Amino acid sequence: MEPRYRAPRGTFDFIYPESEKVEALLAAASEILATRGYRRISTPMLESTELFRRGIGEATDIVTKEMYTFEDQGGESLSLRPEATAPVIRAYLERSLFAQGLPQKLFYAGPMFRRERPQAGRFRQFHQLGAEVIGTRDTFIDAEIISISDVLFKRLGLEAYELVVNSVGCGECRPSYVRMLSGFLEGISQALCEECRRRSRENPMRVFDCKNERCREALEAAPAIGEQLCPECRVHFQEVVDHLETLGVAFRVDPKLVRGLDYYTNTAFEFKFEGLSAQNTVSAGGRYDGLAEQLGGPETPGVGFSLGIERLLLALEAQGLDPFTPPRLSVFVAGAPGVERSSVLDILVALREAGVSADADFMDRGLKSQMKQADRLGARLVLIVGKDELERGEITIRDLDRSSQVEVSLAGMVPAIREMLEAGSEDV
Ligand SMILES: [Zn+2]
Ligand SMILES: [Zn+2]
Repeated sequence: MEPRYRAPRGTFDFIYPESEKVEALLAAASEILATRGYRRISTPMLESTELFRRGIGEATDIVTKEMYTFEDQGGESLSLRPEATAPVIRAYLERSLFAQGLPQKLFYAGPMFRRERPQAGRFRQFHQLGAEVIGTRDTFIDAEIISISDVLFKRLGLEAYELVVNSVGCGECRPSYVRMLSGFLEGISQALCEECRRRSRENPMRVFDCKNERCREALEAAPAIGEQLCPECRVHFQEVVDHLETLGVAFRVDPKLVRGLDYYTNTAFEFKFEGLSAQNTVSAGGRYDGLAEQLGGPETPGVGFSLGIERLLLALEAQGLDPFTPPRLSVFVAGAPGVERSSVLDILVALREAGVSADADFMDRGLKSQMKQADRLGARLVLIVGKDELERGEITIRDLDRSSQVEVSLAGMVPAIREMLEAGSEDV
């Protein structure tokens, strides 16, 4: 039967076991972040459209083409968040988090929304995990923010990825670089696409976003921001690189890696994976010392990263890794013919109250198909409640992993189950 309703294009349902993998992934990442002093923040999925206009940039593709923006019944323009950094800085300013002591180390996880053309690794509702450190320019923090993805990837067993780092300079050195780039772009404007010619006039550094082959070739000879840094920015970058080495994080410097907007400063980085299609950047970020001011706050340094959950799952799949064990039911309670249903339910409730994960049949199945259902649920043990045994105050426990069976007294049921679960499923 054709379903009448489908999930909107570019969105999908996380269903088990994927949904459980996501949970496990978030737990692993949260543990890495928590042991480094990060605290969880959760901002609304809706924000005022103006926040993103100011916080991402009026001229960006995200703001001009990809945001889900609507006017609500009160006439207010709202947008589904396309990213979380601007919302986190908004919350930091609005809630005066600086009063709680600096730096503020925050992390978040949740859905983001961009109306892009859906393809492998790109969705209209996608999920990000990320962190922001607000209030310090200390270069160790830049390296720490970069290292978190690396630690997570290694812990998951991932290989074949590359970390690319660069510095995009500051308000001192970037304007002269942009002038130099503009001059270069004028000279090659014949070779550039329409969009890039427009970018050359409005925001030259965005030409590096172009995916057009011809543009990319023409831009090969362009001056690189990483080679035009002022002395201060050069020192900042060298320190970040030194800290990365101390932290044992492998990287490659690419002086052409850019983040296009004015409030991005100094550190920029991307983790790229082999074996993924065009959408091969799994984690990226950098420093944004000008963002808080852009949002009307005081001068406030910040640095952060965001990591795409769906892309990370694709990377795991591409590398044949499945480091997560889905949760398993310990006990399935099966009623034999002639047994009162209430007896089965009493035992089920007693097990759950004792903290044993347990389930039972709710489809009026015969014993044989209850056994099948237990198997389908991955249950380790089946409790068979039989009429005669129950009258004797006994119950049968079948171990599906070991294919063995014992009879125990009802009073001794929970301790016996605990013992069997703890003994594991391998024969000794
Ligand atoms: Zn500089
Ligand atoms: Zn182009």
